Amino acid sequence: MRSVAAARASNHPPLVRTLASACRTSFRRETIPSSSIRILRTVDAVRTWRRPHMLDHRLVGLVPTMGALHQGHLSLIREAARENHHVVVSIYVNPAQFGISEDLASYPVTWDSDCKILAGLDRDLADDGGNLGRISAVFAPTTSEMYPSGFPGQEVDSKGSFVSLTPVSEVLEGATRSTFFRGVATVCMKLFNIVQPEKVYFGQKDVQQTVVIKKMVKDFMLPMDVEIGATIREPDGLALSSRNVYLGARRRQAATVLSRALRAAEKQYLDGAFDRESILGAATAVTTDTLSEQMTLSPEKRVKFEVDYISLADPETMEELTEVDPKNGGILSGALKMLPVESPQEGEDLGHSGGPAVRLIDNIVLKPSV
Ligand code: AMP
Repeated sequence: MRSVAAARASNHPPLVRTLASACRTSFRRETIPSSSIRILRTVDAVRTWRRPHMLDHRLVGLVPTMGALHQGHLSLIREAARENHHVVVSIYVNPAQFGISEDLASYPVTWDSDCKILAGLDRDLADDGGNLGRISAVFAPTTSEMYPSGFPGQEVDSKGSFVSLTPVSEVLEGATRSTFFRGVATVCMKLFNIVQPEKVYFGQKDVQQTVVIKKMVKDFMLPMDVEIGATIREPDGLALSSRNVYLGARRRQAATVLSRALRAAEKQYLDGAFDRESILGAATAVTTDTLSEQMTLSPEKRVKFEVDYISLADPETMEELTEVDPKNGGILSGALKMLPVESPQEGEDLGHSGGPAVRLIDNIVLKPSV
């Protein structure tokens, strides 16, 4: 005897076959190889994944990234796994936070190695009993998914739906990159709305970004906590960054100048100086001396750089301070541009994408001392 299902199928073969294949498609779960980490590419897929965890009161932590993962990203993911049942890592190179003349086209995209790194980290997390959860999903959307009305463009006067926070987005990084924080805030608002995490994780490395995101969460009453992870550095002090691959060997060894300058300024504060001149003077002495030393070398050996800013700012507003109030502390931050390698030698490692100028940023928190 034929089953009821088979009879139905023979009565309505095309419809049944269509439904069956649709079901197969919707249940096919893409995962990172050798792991149970789901790869979610659409807003709907995230929502479908998220709903049962919401109903079960499971905590979800979101770590937004642009990929090219390094230990700085991984330390945020580890922190998220300690505090949440599920960690979602987003990997999306958001064009809206790149200026028209910036490095969007050459920004390192390393999807396969990012997946391997996440699978390896997830295995480590499973072995470590101190974690509440593991990496459950990677959200890797396309730009058309993230900008459903069409990508508005990278120009300052682009028309579109943006989140902007002023004046904090206009100073320091925002002074030279006028659309940067608008792009960051807009994409983070989208990611937060899509994933609806209980906690979001950002690195201290991008201090002004942390101030902008905290302000956005506060001013738009977003129901989540913002957690800030410490800056992870190379042993010589250089802050890890996906953009460090642009440096190449010659500029890499000179790139410690920024962290050394900020450390010298911090020492002034720790030794009891609270005025801007003493604190920033120490940083400027390091950058000036380092550049002078480099200029004694031949063009085949030397490295040139330009200081964009060295700042002493209020931790809440990023406005410049003339004096640190030790009750509040301050933020020392800096940006400098490592110029393209001069007189490159045959076979010299010029870094990813042939060694364009590389902008480095770094910061140190001056902790309240009373
Ligand atoms: P990105 O992929 O560069 O957009 O960075 C994603 C997140 O990782 C941001 O919250 C960054 O602040 C954070 N991050 C980047 N570099 C470091 C680092 N060296 N230490 C800690 N966090 C970092």
